[in-house]
Amino acid sequence: MRIRAAAVPAVALAVTVALAVTVALVWTRSGPGPEAGAPPAPPAQPTPSAEQVQAGATPGAPGIGDAYFPGDGNGGYDVRRYAVDVRYDPATDRLAGRTTITATATGNLSRFNLDLALPASAVEVDGAPAAHTQRGTELVVTPPRPVPAGATMTVRVDYAGIPSETGPDSPWVRTADGALAVNQPDIAPWWFPSNDHPADKASMAVTITVPEGVEALSNGALLAGPEPAGNGQDRWRWRADAPMAPYLAFVAIGQYELVRRDTPFGSLLVGYAEGLEPELAAAARQSVGQTPRIVGVLSGLFGEYPFDHLGGVVPDAPGLGIALENQTRPVYSPAFFTGGPYVDVVVHELAHQWFGDSVSVRRWRDIWLNEGFATYAEWLYSERTGGPSAQQIVGAHYDSIPADDPFWQVPPADPGAANLLDPAVYTRGAMALHAIRVAVGDEAFFATLRAWAAQRRHGNGTVEAFLALAQRRSGQQLDALADAWLYQPGRPERTG
Ligand SMILES: [Zn+2]
Repeated sequence: MRIRAAAVPAVALAVTVALAVTVALVWTRSGPGPEAGAPPAPPAQPTPSAEQVQAGATPGAPGIGDAYFPGDGNGGYDVRRYAVDVRYDPATDRLAGRTTITATATGNLSRFNLDLALPASAVEVDGAPAAHTQRGTELVVTPPRPVPAGATMTVRVDYAGIPSETGPDSPWVRTADGALAVNQPDIAPWWFPSNDHPADKASMAVTITVPEGVEALSNGALLAGPEPAGNGQDRWRWRADAPMAPYLAFVAIGQYELVRRDTPFGSLLVGYAEGLEPELAAAARQSVGQTPRIVGVLSGLFGEYPFDHLGGVVPDAPGLGIALENQTRPVYSPAFFTGGPYVDVVVHELAHQWFGDSVSVRRWRDIWLNEGFATYAEWLYSERTGGPSAQQIVGAHYDSIPADDPFWQVPPADPGAANLLDPAVYTRGAMALHAIRVAVGDEAFFATLRAWAAQRRHGNGTVEAFLALAQRRSGQQLDALADAWLYQPGRPERTG
């Protein structure tokens, strides 16, 4: 994710080389849990039946065990596939959906939770109606019989509501002619029920039905669309086979021009909103249009592009304020291009396809593996394409931020939930990677990045596992350096 702030960044960087500043931001999600300042709401607790107690079945946990966001995700099962089928009306913002989840039980389940903010009307487990209660974003499902450990279960949920008006802080964005489901760390509960945590990745099939003439974009391959769905409706069908974290699934609904072509890295599909001002539209095209070229440069640095599809989306949504690394197809706020072409943000979101999307965090505290890496990719890209070197950029940042600046108080490898997307995670995080590079040398450093991307492809990782790999690859002890740059508050020694 990149955040575009209108205000002067909290960390004002005197930029002496021609680089765009990773700005400060204030997207915060204060405190752990879905409601700011409050612990996550405990789900309603249906009493297990005598039969369930006898079977030794126990409830799945209401959270997956993330210390930063205890209410996110759920325990007791592992999702393999989502089939999401939604109908959306831009005029009313009403979304009606049916999602079918294929999951494997990891314990004997008397009941389990899904994360869904929109009201559910019916739930079936393996074809049989299941009792359900809902509170906040927790949907508690009690199947008629316990699900044994190891069993594959099929869960079907019917639901409907007005996403932009659901919950106290809905991340759903309405636009002039449609809507966007684009956010980090949570967006799925506003359009499909899920195990909403990057530790549980699954393949996705998304079908969106919208009024005739409206485009509906999502991740992966466009299987069909627009195809007539009757009653003045069109249907768009998308499929993403590679496992995906739920927050990376998106929909963009509105008036879009689709640009499609084959590239050496897979099928390209980019959607540009038709409502953009001509100058802005041109700047967006000059930036996002470089996607294949940028993927080529990044492939040279990080190894093979991890997906079969690539592209991007530029919606007509000046209020979006962010760019997000949606898998195979990042979504870019047009605000990034108001000053003309801006390639850094495209490099950033495309680098996330390796670091964040293919290799996802195991816990949200591992966010450095996403944002530190994507930010450093911007600097590497600069270095590789005739711009300032990473060393120059690191030096400029370092020298412009005084030792007593609060910037240095946030350790990138454990920033805290409220600082998940703090500038330090990005900029200090990228400087930390540079420090590792200088310590181990280019050969071991880039071998480490490529091995990380290859070994963890379509999986997950932790900061500790990355550091262990860097040590194995380089034969160097990195504890002191990692401690200074990643784990402790305070300004480390200058690199180079
Ligand atoms: Zn990012």
